[in-house]
Amino acid sequence: MNQETSGKTLKELIEEVADLIVSSKRIVVFTGAGISTESGIPDFRGPDGLWTKFDPEDFTYQRFVTSREARKRLWGMSKTVGLSWTDMKPNAAHYAVAELEKLGKLDCVITQNVDGLHQEAGNSEDKVLQLHGNMQWAKCLSCGARWRNEEVMRWVEAGAEDPECVKCGGIIKPEGVFFGEAMPAKETMEAERRSSMCDLCIVIGSSLVVYPAALMPQYAVQSGAKLVIINEGETSLDHVADIRIDDKAGEVMSQVVKKVKKKLGTK
Ligand code: NAD
Repeated sequence: MNQETSGKTLKELIEEVADLIVSSKRIVVFTGAGISTESGIPDFRGPDGLWTKFDPEDFTYQRFVTSREARKRLWGMSKTVGLSWTDMKPNAAHYAVAELEKLGKLDCVITQNVDGLHQEAGNSEDKVLQLHGNMQWAKCLSCGARWRNEEVMRWVEAGAEDPECVKCGGIIKPEGVFFGEAMPAKETMEAERRSSMCDLCIVIGSSLVVYPAALMPQYAVQSGAKLVIINEGETSLDHVADIRIDDKAGEVMSQVVKKVKKKLGTK
């Protein structure tokens, strides 16, 4: 069922999502780059996505660790598009997800995002599982020393094209997971466990084509959970969604949470 074929209005679909949230006991929210576009951070595959401007091949782990030129391009790109997104603020969709936690209606957020905006909106650190790491920190691949990415970017601004570890001279890499790099084991196992135990999975802003992250909503469906997808444009799981809303995450999610609060009798 989707918005176009269900014959239901957006208002009716929002009402149905709110009802599902109220009646569910373990809710997992799964988010992708699309939840952060309204904060001004481009996604990968949307019309203004990063891959319309940059070559994804430059961002494989293998290439980063073996090619100084690839590292220079990565840090150069960070300078142009500001990859640690320190100026960006959460939007209505992030705040709505944080509100679900306050209402006791959130088991966890499983996110593919690396921007830290769920935590900034008010979700507790232990409720956010970052499958693709983060772009706030960078780490030496040899000795494990860590710096805020902002600090490494200051070295880049000052002329270091391929910044090296000040302690051991090793390669410094942002903690975001690159293509070809394994997802963090602890977060991945926890995300699999939570997805398999939830009774409602709400996907927000993901095309669900990046694996293995996109397996999480599939685990939820296989375990009998309901699936809600709020995404502008197609996703790979549209055919199994119980409710499909093709619209902007910010407006939809704030309407959903407003309804939930009304139904729960909270302000
Ligand atoms: P994606 O780019 O494949 O899909 C994003 C989806 O969101 C698209 O279908 C797009 O049409 C939709 N969308 C865009 N704006 C929307 C809005 N306002 N409301 C609702 N839907 C909207 O992103 P993905 O599925 O997350 O997978 C790609 C990879 O992108 C992930 O691995 C993630 O790590 C990485 N990424 C993250 C960020 C970030 O941290 N903010 C930014 C870019 C890419």
